[in-house]
Amino acid sequence: MPQLKFSKTCPICGRKSLIPVYCLGKKVTCGHCHGDFRATDTTGSSEQGSELMDRAEALLATNGIRRHNPAF
Ligand SMILES: [Zn+2]
Repeated sequence: MPQLKFSKTCPICGRKSLIPVYCLGKKVTCGHCHGDFRATDTTGSSEQGSELMDRAEALLATNGIRRHNPAF
């Protein structure tokens, strides 16, 4: 059974490395420059991600209220 891998651009040398999914969120070593970096599947900051999630949840909440309100 082949191991699931994802490609991650190394923040040190900028080249793509294939990282096994079980290393997600852990420190990995780049196969090109041997630099250590954290293997995350996002390129942006986590703060931006949570902000987007908050916005999505707010939108869902608004839709929920409208759906349950017969006036709309
Ligand atoms: Zn590298």
